[in-house]
Amino acid sequence: MAYTLIQNAFVVTMDETQGDFRGDILVDGARIAALGRGLAIDDAVVVDATDFIVTPGFINAHLHTWQAGLRTIASNWTLPEYFRWVHAGLATQFEPEDIRIATLAGALNQLENGTTTLVDWCHNNPTPLHTDAAIAALRQAGIRATFMHGTPKPDPVPGQRPFWEIPHPRGEVVRLARELGSNDDLLSLGLAILGPHYSTLEVAREDFALAREFDLIASMHQGGGPAKSPDGWARLEAAGLLGKSINIVHGNDLPDEQLSRFVEAGVSFTVTGESEMISGHGHPIVGRLHELGVRPSLGSDIEAALSGDMLTAARITLSNQRALDNISARQAGTLGGKSRVRTRDALAWITIEGARMLGKEASIGSLAPGKQADLVMISTRSLNMQPIHDAVSALVMHANQSNIDSVMVAGNWRKRHGRLIHDDVGAVMEALQRSSSRIVGALGIQPSDLQ
Ligand SMILES: [Zn+2]
Repeated sequence: MAYTLIQNAFVVTMDETQGDFRGDILVDGARIAALGRGLAIDDAVVVDATDFIVTPGFINAHLHTWQAGLRTIASNWTLPEYFRWVHAGLATQFEPEDIRIATLAGALNQLENGTTTLVDWCHNNPTPLHTDAAIAALRQAGIRATFMHGTPKPDPVPGQRPFWEIPHPRGEVVRLARELGSNDDLLSLGLAILGPHYSTLEVAREDFALAREFDLIASMHQGGGPAKSPDGWARLEAAGLLGKSINIVHGNDLPDEQLSRFVEAGVSFTVTGESEMISGHGHPIVGRLHELGVRPSLGSDIEAALSGDMLTAARITLSNQRALDNISARQAGTLGGKSRVRTRDALAWITIEGARMLGKEASIGSLAPGKQADLVMISTRSLNMQPIHDAVSALVMHANQSNIDSVMVAGNWRKRHGRLIHDDVGAVMEALQRSSSRIVGALGIQPSDLQ
């Protein structure tokens, strides 16, 4: 593959050693070969980036991509309505082809919005064919992804074990670990397990052990209704099962002292700010984690209810924390001094912290020589982006999808000059519409149920 030389960009590396600078990025194949000023090399494809900010590609650390065909369905629903209609209802209608087309559309939309790494938290895998369809779609999209294999949550059937008593299917993990194990693959495997909030302690213990055996990240939701295993976390902690490979999504209700111990144990946290606010989880925990000296990764979560755009996710989550901090300040009789959570923290949530959650901070999440060439070029030649006194604040507080000009994954352009590079986006949208109409029609959901 030829060299690509991105020249004269304003580069926000999110790497403490490299910092921010105006200069060049030399891409050699899938990797960044060099960063600096005045780089020159023969036979490189030269990209003039004078009017662009270049950042690491965004990392969406928690998305149910299979729900892309259900967009707007759950936008007015509460969490109980979501569980009843989406998990125990619509999810059961998905054929493998529905999973494929939704995952493809959802992943392409992520690329369109600057996401280069997608943590596809796929919990609608009733059969291996559904799983294979999701994986095929991620490959087709050309996005870097961690496929988090999960299990469905249908209503209990009399005479059968309910989902919370069923351990993660070991045979599938063996099969997928073999298939997605290679280092040069854009796809890797993780486990989207039920965890102690959504399963019995016995199941949680078995699933934790399974993830550990295969050296996989075990990610789980924490919150939303009463826990299936109320003392589960205490028991798992006492058994020494917590560590860096454990990822808690949400965690809004965890008490301070428990949060502190989990952070100490190296557990990672993924916040899904907007979905937590609209669906009853409560306030995101970015400020509480900040007090403990760590930052979460960020995910957009429920595509059936809200957009998957990571710049919006970062901005909304930052604004919520500022609101909480300002309320505290007012209660203390002041108007606040200095904002403690900064726009650079928000950009870190959607870049380097996503990489850390995956244990991949050595290869993605920031721009540095030797790392993967996953990056976004954001145009600054538009009315909403001028003038720029601080590039990070311009990204987090002003930029939107219309400014995302080009997106590169492992040295390959996936979006260029404002257009996705994909065979036929129109056909994908038509197929998504057909799939979605069939699924929603099968349940007889009426427009009045949604408004
Ligand atoms: Zn979720």
